[in-house]
Amino acid sequence: MRAFDYVRAYDLSTALHEGGRPETRFLAGGTTLLDLMKCGVERPARIVDITRLSGLSDIEVDENSIRIGGLARMSHVADDPGVKAVAPAVSEALWRAASAQLRNMAAIGGNLMQRTRCSYFRDPVAYPDCNKRQPGSGCAAMAGVNRNHAVLGTSNACIAIYPGDLGVSLVAFDARIHIEGSRKRVVSAEEFFYLPGDRPDIENDLAPGEIIVGIEIPVSAALRRSHYLKARDRASYEFAAASAAVGLELAPDGKTIREARVALGGVATRPWRARTVEQALAGQPLQESTFREASALAVEGAVSRGHNAYKITLAPKVVARALMVAGGLT
Ligand SMILES: Cc1cc2nc3c(=O)[nH]c(=O)nc-3n(C[C@H](O)[C@H](O)[C@H](O)COP(=O)(O)OP(=O)(O)OC[C@H]3O[C@@H](n4cnc5c(N)ncnc54)[C@H](O)[C@@H]3O)c2cc1C
Ligand code: SF4
Repeated sequence: MRAFDYVRAYDLSTALHEGGRPETRFLAGGTTLLDLMKCGVERPARIVDITRLSGLSDIEVDENSIRIGGLARMSHVADDPGVKAVAPAVSEALWRAASAQLRNMAAIGGNLMQRTRCSYFRDPVAYPDCNKRQPGSGCAAMAGVNRNHAVLGTSNACIAIYPGDLGVSLVAFDARIHIEGSRKRVVSAEEFFYLPGDRPDIENDLAPGEIIVGIEIPVSAALRRSHYLKARDRASYEFAAASAAVGLELAPDGKTIREARVALGGVATRPWRARTVEQALAGQPLQESTFREASALAVEGAVSRGHNAYKITLAPKVVARALMVAGGLT
């Protein structure tokens, strides 16, 4: 591991000043950053510890929105009574992520910034070919073992999955990410995460030195009737093979879908909003056949690279099942 300087910031302006210097990374829970430093993917010259910044760990819920500080711990958000009541899919996405120990350490901003679990990406010594680490070097996963790689949103440069769970729920429910750097700005969760294109090394809208200070989720009828379902190889401590964050708003008759929200995880290069499924559900009767037919659209345009073909079969089933739970049909 490269030797690095360590700085602890106690206020936001110091963190932004220190974080704006070259080759610097912020440290929150450290559960991703330190892993990546140990395997040689991240080699910062300086680390700015932001865990002692005050005022960035609050969780506020009212009838209009949920506001969560960028340093709030995953476990605190997952277990917050207001979040559980108003946004089940957000709480469930966090509960189903990682392990209890990790959730107690890790913060919301760091969770959104986590990097892919592509095993070729994480082993620079054995696999020098990785366009995400070194643009133009190639992609070892294309002809390699790609069971855990994306079928949606891929490019000829990279097929790595965005592995997080929370981001999927945020994209489904139009969350906004609050960022501070040389200026304050707000970006929608959907726009925050980038497709790989020919620059898979540029993964999101955060510039060097900027800090995620919070997220804001509008409260809606669909969010109140929401669910996050995660299919994975084992029941805990595992990333998604396919997941779905869904929400339903019903018409006053209780039998017709007025509005649906659907986003997928574990299958795409970024949290994947499935608007064609949402459109197919609007105005339809609340019944299993509606969900199954619409969910088939979730993988429109999907491309298999071999080992990951099962995701194209699995994802629609996960979406349909999640909708059944949200709709109270199971
Ligand atoms: C074994 C294992 C299993 C896991 N399983 C899952 C899973 O199933 N689902 C899931 O979603 N995640 C999973 N994770 C990922 C885990 O959730 C992340 O490691 C964690 O959320 C990262 O948060 P952190 O606070 O530790 O970030 P750090 O490691 O401190 O930081 C990560 C990155 O984010 C940057 N950063 C941190 N905070 C901010 C901020 N506020 N603003 C700007 N940049 C910031 C850092 O500079 C760094 O680049 C798993 C991790 C491990 C190790
Ligand atoms: S899929 Fe992306 S991250 Fe994985 S080896 Fe290929 S370029 Fe690198």
